[in-house]
Amino acid sequence: MGLLIVLSGPAGVGKGTVCSALRERMPEIVYSVSATTRQPRQGEVEGVNYFFKTREQFQDLIARDAMLEYAEYVGNYYGTPRDFVDRTLAGGRDVILEIEVQGALKVKEKFPEAIFVFLLPPSLEELKQRITGRGTESQDTINKRMNVAVEEMNLLQHYDYAVMNDEIDAACDRIRSIIIAEHCRRERFEPYVSGMQAAIEKA
Ligand code: 5GP
Repeated sequence: MGLLIVLSGPAGVGKGTVCSALRERMPEIVYSVSATTRQPRQGEVEGVNYFFKTREQFQDLIARDAMLEYAEYVGNYYGTPRDFVDRTLAGGRDVILEIEVQGALKVKEKFPEAIFVFLLPPSLEELKQRITGRGTESQDTINKRMNVAVEEMNLLQHYDYAVMNDEIDAACDRIRSIIIAEHCRRERFEPYVSGMQAAIEKA
């Protein structure tokens, strides 16, 4: 089984940027493309950035239990198609989800063995700048996202790791170290050692 890595954190902390940079550095990790009902932004491509759905289509996916998790975020649905994640993990590859915090908590219920990484803003001021600096959202949306972000910070307690997003390279190095360390957990090697012992006993 591959590892399921959940990269989450408050709105505007830079999850998308860090996740893209990490994928460049660790191309062996498979990115799970989410489904959403929000409109595509300029340059976004169906099936690459998101699977763009109508509300009806999304509700149908929920009804068919096709989502590993989903959340409603600033008026739109976002969710992780379950099948792709299950198949990829079963194939022995690591999967990364880049999702907001409500969805991450739902993944924790279904997949407690996943690795939960909480991305932290280096300061509140920086967080505000990032939310505003995106430049594509209205003032109303910015205010909503800022309030949501402050509340979301309380959810740190549910995570395994916290990574400060002060600088992209440094943040990627930290996440990469976490993934490498998780691959070295002794539990993962117990079947391997038992197999060796059994082979020695037989010989
Ligand atoms: P954006 O509209 O800026 O692409 O994404 C808004 C928020 O939705 C981001 O915090 C992003 O991490 C989150 N998000 C993207 N995909 C998913 C998903 O599949 N599930 C959940 N719960 N959140 C998602």
